[in-house]
Amino acid sequence: MLARLPTLVLYHPAMAQEGYPVLAGRVQQAFDYLEETGTLQAPQVKLEEAQLVEDSLLQQVHTNRHIASVGGTSYDFASRLSAGASVRAGEAVWTGDAANAFVFTGCAGHHASRGSAWGFCYYNNTALLVRHLQEVHGVERFFVVDTDPHFGDGTRDILGEEPGVFHLNFYAAFGEGEEFKSPRHVDVPFPSNCGDASFVEALRRLAKPLAKESRAQMLLWNMGHDAHAIDYGGFQLSLHAFPAMTEILFKVAEDVCQGRFVVLLSGGSEVYVARHTISSIIRCLAALTPLPADTAEEPAYDSPDTERTAQKLVDNILEKLALDT
Ligand SMILES: [Zn+2]
Repeated sequence: MLARLPTLVLYHPAMAQEGYPVLAGRVQQAFDYLEETGTLQAPQVKLEEAQLVEDSLLQQVHTNRHIASVGGTSYDFASRLSAGASVRAGEAVWTGDAANAFVFTGCAGHHASRGSAWGFCYYNNTALLVRHLQEVHGVERFFVVDTDPHFGDGTRDILGEEPGVFHLNFYAAFGEGEEFKSPRHVDVPFPSNCGDASFVEALRRLAKPLAKESRAQMLLWNMGHDAHAIDYGGFQLSLHAFPAMTEILFKVAEDVCQGRFVVLLSGGSEVYVARHTISSIIRCLAALTPLPADTAEEPAYDSPDTERTAQKLVDNILEKLALDT
């Protein structure tokens, strides 16, 4: 019997030392927790040190002016490492070095557009991964899921015109906002006070049909734990939601993308949340037994109002999808 391919974890100490302060403070401690709990030592998990992204790839995704302006900041090195880690993860999962991958970052990516960036992002890690696999391996179709509570505007700017990229993009709202543009661009303006059940259920209902429609060859998840109730973003999720989301997307990747699944770390600053969400996600990717401590807190409940709003929103999207596909 063939041994299972490992889950690859990409990391570099400079992500913590030189990353954007809001995001970087969690990185070392979340990494240490993986060691403390024996997660990194498990044979199903392979750790690799991140390398810098190639300049030539950066130039294919971002303008020279933007690259020069990031070069003038103190976050250039950590941004290049975060991008390099993302590209390597995509490469490893595509070429069969790894079953799936988790990417630590020192600066996030989804607010980085071609020629500008904001919100602790400098280079668009997802778009760089996509462009690399398109150019080097001829990969044509991707399913990008973004559950960070902030809108993935940079990813949309860079990849929005790509016919082979489907983007399921949750963001915190109050039922406002346009949720459906095309099957390739599904924005979900989700109630910002939602709890675990409505959020996880929405992901479950939307991810599978969209992934099937996309016929994606790889699933990329932009995972921000700023969606946790005590972290800084919208949504009121508990730790329970994160392994639940991982299981859903893992299964979708298996059904549609031959299991190819890369998780990219996005927003979030709370150390407690980072330690437990990252651990539970990696353990799920590697099919390791969950740690009770990773879901020890009370699940976050929805109000009946939130649940109704969320359900209606997803019903509407699915209805429009059925009409348009
Ligand atoms: Zn965010």
